[in-house]
Amino acid sequence: MTKKTRVLSGIRATGRLHLGNYLGAVRGMLELQNDPRYETLYCVVDLHATTTPYDPKILKQKTRDVVLDYLSCGIDPKKSHLYIQSELADLIAQLSFYFSTVVTIARMQHLPTFKDKVKQYPEHATMALLNYPVLMAADILIYKASLIPVGIDQEPHLEVAREIARKMNDTYGTDFPEPTRFATKGEYVPSLTGVGKMSKSVPGSFINLTDDLETIKERLSHAPTDSGKGEKIPKEGGVSNLLKLVELFEGEDKRVHYEKLYTSSGIKYSELKQGLAEAIYKELKPIQEKRRELESKPEYVDEVLRQGAEKARKIAESTVNEVKEKMGFK
Ligand code: ADP
Repeated sequence: MTKKTRVLSGIRATGRLHLGNYLGAVRGMLELQNDPRYETLYCVVDLHATTTPYDPKILKQKTRDVVLDYLSCGIDPKKSHLYIQSELADLIAQLSFYFSTVVTIARMQHLPTFKDKVKQYPEHATMALLNYPVLMAADILIYKASLIPVGIDQEPHLEVAREIARKMNDTYGTDFPEPTRFATKGEYVPSLTGVGKMSKSVPGSFINLTDDLETIKERLSHAPTDSGKGEKIPKEGGVSNLLKLVELFEGEDKRVHYEKLYTSSGIKYSELKQGLAEAIYKELKPIQEKRRELESKPEYVDEVLRQGAEKARKIAESTVNEVKEKMGFK
């Protein structure tokens, strides 16, 4: 039997998942878990959640929310190992330290993701934030995972993981693979504000997986539009973003339909937003029903996490031991 390719993905414990997380990451995670060629490990990265300001009193709740969202979306514990990153902090943080011996400070400081976060939280430019991509490389390489279902915003971090794999292999003779991104159709879900990507940390930018129809309509009602008519379809901004969401939830044909209207009789945005809200809700309704069911089974969820962490730990331990040996500690 040929060895299965390992897959790793994680989402930060910073709140309920939104459509960007779902389309950019979770959809890819589901596709790979259902393909027998892969062994899938999925986690909630709560250590990463501490790299920007956070509230320790509610960290556990936020972690749990992501776990429930994962399971509601269809992450199946019979097929995937599901665990919380900090349960393996002893191994992952340890490996991250070893990796930091082959990464320069300058490389980390020049990453666009680091610069953005420093701009967002100027009082919080911590070592943990600088180390974010190194910790992510440890998350991935501790399982020698080579396929990573994440959104396109994570590409610079994956580049760092590949560099670390190469440098570790060259310097210490390890055999880390160079991980690549598994892209989905929704690899970049735009913000409802018309600027940038949909993100948990930008108010008014997102629709949560737990939103009901009324909330979705309300959120879409604030998305900026224009007169509905023009010679050229806008390539960026509110209208462009709405059309992208139409494509993702109602299909390419519907988008083309609206584009034709734009250059002829005009789009009625109230109708577009109504149709879009219903299409989004149709996709979210079964996820929300599953979530309610899971909320009433905390012991089941605990057991899933315990077993997931146990499986992950076995693989992680063997990698850390190997690295320690190669680095001369043993
Ligand atoms: P956020 O940016 O909302 O804090 P995270 O940084 O925790 O989300 O990202 C979790 C996963 O969701 C990553 O794989 C990331 O690439 C993906 N993701 C986040 N926002 C989007 C988006 N707007 N479009 C596509 N994927 C996204």
